[in-house]
Amino acid sequence: MANQLNYGSSPPDWPFPVNYGKENRIETDVLIVGAGIAGVMAGLRAARRGVKVAVVDKAPIEVSGSGGAGIDHYGNCLSNPDSGMTPEEFMEIGSGMPGRAADHRSYITAKLSWDNLLELERLGMRFRDEDDEFKGASFRDDNSKIMYAYDYTNKTTIKLRSGADIKRYAKKGLMAEENATIYERVMITNLLTEGGKRGARVVGATGLHEETGEFYVFNAKCVILNTAGVSMQGTGTWTFNTEMFGNGYKADPRNTGDGLAMAWKAGAEFGREDRFGQNTSTHPFGWPWYGIGNCDNTWAPCNIVDNNGKLIPWVDSNGKIIPDDDIDARSNPAEGHKYVSFPRANLTLDIAERIRNGEFELPFWADLSGMPEDQRRKIWGLMVGNEGRTRTAIYDFFNKAGFNPDEDMLQSPVMAVKSYEWPMRDWYQGEPNAVKPWKADTLQGLQTDWTQMTNIEGLFASGCEAGQGGAPCGAGGGYAGNRAAEYARTIGLGKIDEAQLAAEKERVYGPVKRMENPNAVVSWKELLMGLNRVMQQDLGDDRTPALCEHGLNWIDSIKKGEMQMTYARNPHELSRVLEAESRVTIGEIYFHLCMANFNEAEGAGKGKVMINKFDGEKAATTYKEEKWWLKPPYAPTFLENFEKFTAIEREEMKNG
Ligand SMILES: Cc1cc2nc3c(=O)[nH]c(=O)nc-3n(C[C@H](O)[C@H](O)[C@H](O)COP(=O)(O)OP(=O)(O)OC[C@H]3O[C@@H](n4cnc5c(N)ncnc54)[C@H](O)[C@@H]3O)c2cc1C
Repeated sequence: MANQLNYGSSPPDWPFPVNYGKENRIETDVLIVGAGIAGVMAGLRAARRGVKVAVVDKAPIEVSGSGGAGIDHYGNCLSNPDSGMTPEEFMEIGSGMPGRAADHRSYITAKLSWDNLLELERLGMRFRDEDDEFKGASFRDDNSKIMYAYDYTNKTTIKLRSGADIKRYAKKGLMAEENATIYERVMITNLLTEGGKRGARVVGATGLHEETGEFYVFNAKCVILNTAGVSMQGTGTWTFNTEMFGNGYKADPRNTGDGLAMAWKAGAEFGREDRFGQNTSTHPFGWPWYGIGNCDNTWAPCNIVDNNGKLIPWVDSNGKIIPDDDIDARSNPAEGHKYVSFPRANLTLDIAERIRNGEFELPFWADLSGMPEDQRRKIWGLMVGNEGRTRTAIYDFFNKAGFNPDEDMLQSPVMAVKSYEWPMRDWYQGEPNAVKPWKADTLQGLQTDWTQMTNIEGLFASGCEAGQGGAPCGAGGGYAGNRAAEYARTIGLGKIDEAQLAAEKERVYGPVKRMENPNAVVSWKELLMGLNRVMQQDLGDDRTPALCEHGLNWIDSIKKGEMQMTYARNPHELSRVLEAESRVTIGEIYFHLCMANFNEAEGAGKGKVMINKFDGEKAATTYKEEKWWLKPPYAPTFLENFEKFTAIEREEMKNG
């Protein structure tokens, strides 16, 4: 039946032995869920503290997650000896920047990123210019041979020489740890809690093997979630259209919100959500990030010329014109500014006007050939050659096709002229700039304390899952791994609730058991697209309590109806159905958080941090003091807290 419905196609023969329901029980001290950059470092550091660690990922770790395709820069290296600012100064500056989370989690990555990069170097990842290829370049320190990106004065972001393989090196390091056991292609489906109760201590998790369909039961003293939430995907909870979302590459498409969904169901705390899928940095007509001619991030600070070869001038963050030949000034703070960030040097702000009056002609082009040779090689070889979005699609293919950066240019996308008025000038996205926000996931991470534990005892979170984005999230993972190991030493294994386990097993294998049921006609894609319709209509641009209620009722009917009619013809389809079910929960979370905003008593949240957790029916809302991470019971400075919470680790390191 399912084959006929699927446009007459049947899936190819499944190449692995299938053992649906076969149970594998594993006991461990620390369970790592998701081994992206954060999860691998969490596993590695926990294992080094002498506890038993199980590291589980639903994909092969050497290529899994958002870092799996490769990265070109490593930020937040504020502790490196050449850094022009301290982590504390960085936090001070960050707290004044709109949209920048200057909380304890950012401090942890600011403090430890350099240390984490050195760890990756020990594992084989290169970032120094040992071969002196760039000797004398302005972005290189000739003593340390480190090459810096974006801010040549403060030197906090480091260019990588073999960032393309970051996950390969990280996995190799993990495999060398005798206390760590790796489980790849096992998708964690749910958390297990003491007595099966919401809000109770976490005692493990269940998993499904994506090749064999076998069932996994992990009994753990504590769990670290690192599944990266549903961060910033172009395709997801509002839309399922891989063709149109050119910039769905902003995170691994397999980060389907599983971790957040299971944490929500377990009663973990979330913050406030304001944007509800309203994202300016994504658009269905966008282009793959950095895959087209531009001058940002991977391509910074490339020359952009108009169709007649006329250079588009740069201005500094004070709006002052930068002389055309002063390329370095594009990567240094302007007068009176301490740090290159937002606003930063960029192309002149009156581009749109000058297109309209005929001074500039479209299309524009990224002109590597007009850059000094070391800058050209830095962008094309070092950055474009390592970054996951460009490494294969641009660098490899264009090189094979004969692209020569000494002579050739790469076209920038042509946008509506008003789009060039957008101050960010981030053309790599294509059209979105001046148009209205588009629908993409915006859900922020879980709330965690100074040990990166959530409000659920034994449940830690790190990386994007806990608001720690970018490659430096490896530092957050390492920190969480250390704290989890310390916690695991103080406590025994919790008891698994067999009723909770049985219910989860029933849910997991539902789509397989329904294969003979003629009513099982819903594929994973249809389930996802059904959810998308609910989100587009009831949580769109204009939101009301009535629409939220309608949306929640609609999802409820999908859960009782269509979600009980899904089918899976093999373990691959089964995993996809379970991912779509996670998305359904993510949809519910958005609605509940939206309702929490409507229900907020006037003035209740003023100057406070809103916290929401699921009480079985709705989001129960409480508030914390603003900057609670620096208020009692915590110490008043970042450094004091950091030293307190890393004291045992530092003592043990001192004693070898
Ligand atoms: C192409 C690309 C290039 C980038 N380049 C840079 C860069 O140059 N510099 C920079 O700082 N940042 C860069 N970023 C961002 C950076 O890579 C991410 O912010 C970072 O990797 C996030 O790490 P994470 O561990 O939190 O999540 P991820 O690395 O995304 O890892 C999440 C992991 O969880 C696993 N998982 C998910 N659900 C489950 C489940 N149910 N069970 C088991 N496992 C699960 C996934 O398979 C994945 O391995 C880039 C991102 C992309 C997509």
